[in-house]
Amino acid sequence: MQIKTLTPLWTGNVDGKCKTIKETGIIGSLRWWYEALVRGLGGYACDPTSDKRCELNYKKFDNSIKNGRSIQESLDEQICPVCQLFGCTGWKRRFKLELNSEKLLNAPFIIAKPNESQRPVFLGYYDKTGKAYKNKGGLVGGFEFDLIPENEGNIDLLGLLLQLSIDWGLGAMTQKGFGVLSSKENFKNGEKDLSNLPKPRNENTYSLPLPKIDQFFFYKVPIKTESIGMITKEISKGLFKTMSDKKKGNYLEWDYMSFSYIPSAPWVKRSIRSLYSNKILRHYLMGFVSMKETKPIHLKCWKHSIKKDKRKYWCVNCREGSIDKLILEKTASKIHVSHIYNQNFYKTGKPSWEMKLWGWIPEIPKKIGVDEKTVQKILKSNLVSVDFWENTFGVEKCPVDVDNILSVWGPDPELIVKQGGKLYGL
Ligand SMILES: [Zn+2]
Ligand SMILES: [Zn+2]
Repeated sequence: MQIKTLTPLWTGNVDGKCKTIKETGIIGSLRWWYEALVRGLGGYACDPTSDKRCELNYKKFDNSIKNGRSIQESLDEQICPVCQLFGCTGWKRRFKLELNSEKLLNAPFIIAKPNESQRPVFLGYYDKTGKAYKNKGGLVGGFEFDLIPENEGNIDLLGLLLQLSIDWGLGAMTQKGFGVLSSKENFKNGEKDLSNLPKPRNENTYSLPLPKIDQFFFYKVPIKTESIGMITKEISKGLFKTMSDKKKGNYLEWDYMSFSYIPSAPWVKRSIRSLYSNKILRHYLMGFVSMKETKPIHLKCWKHSIKKDKRKYWCVNCREGSIDKLILEKTASKIHVSHIYNQNFYKTGKPSWEMKLWGWIPEIPKKIGVDEKTVQKILKSNLVSVDFWENTFGVEKCPVDVDNILSVWGPDPELIVKQGGKLYGL
């Protein structure tokens, strides 16, 4: 695989920095897309971050084989199809990823503060001491790696997961503009039969919905070439290298010809956020972290109403206590926005600018008071609206070629498999 970055790549370390590319970051993305796909196809994929993640008991597995069952049957009995390929406790990953070469540079760290937004967005690693700003904005350039499956039958499957990751999001911070890549490779159509997956297990305890690809939406938004200068000028006023630059008002003039991207994602995210006046809904969709003024959400009454007293949680709304499992302290954005990037950056020919926008809208809990159909309708009508894009970038002439926006809502997972991870030509 030969890959080039269109927007910076972020495969963070445990310390939150990203100095070099990490195999685990790539593998984590492939796994995430596979989970969403398997769930979309009606199968069960465990949540590896929860206590419900799979675990293989080898003794049980061994007995099953001795009783004449196949390896596949014995695995299906215990672990989900995603863990069968990506591994879990008791079962190792069934492919290798080897990085061959990398020609990656550090992208500049940027603090973005779109007008009217309360908190600045850190595009990269933010050191609280304020000393380590330089070159902590992710990686840009090209890299090469091999994917080597144990079983050749998995080549097409890995290819389609890679296609989805490259096109829509690889690595972390894809909600904030990172992780759109390009590759010369064209993957073969998936031939693996994914239709015969185990059905969902019954879950008794309450759990939040997990990504499911048939609930996803995808947009490719073309930006008018003549508007790039204006957009960059407007955005630059809200870009800073350091917090002290921000205080002094020393903004950063972005040089859009030297980079493959313009750090525009925070502007689009702010605009989308403003479409949802219901605070709980907005936090549920766009993500939040509980802090002093934003208490954790009680998942029973769906209010920011959780207080912590002497290590015990209780709800100030419904007065329930000892509820440590029904609390949402933070959640990531379900809506991902790429920066604007030049898809011809590595090719000869004129620059061609576009951005991607995608995400998933799960069932919205009734207590929130807005249903998912309404959430979709608001997003759909605004993303093709001239006003929306003019307001987003603060320019007078619409910078988006709205007639040529491409979008897919609720894609058919089987078709994604047939198309090798390509989304209807997007
Ligand atoms: Zn699993
Ligand atoms: Zn409550």
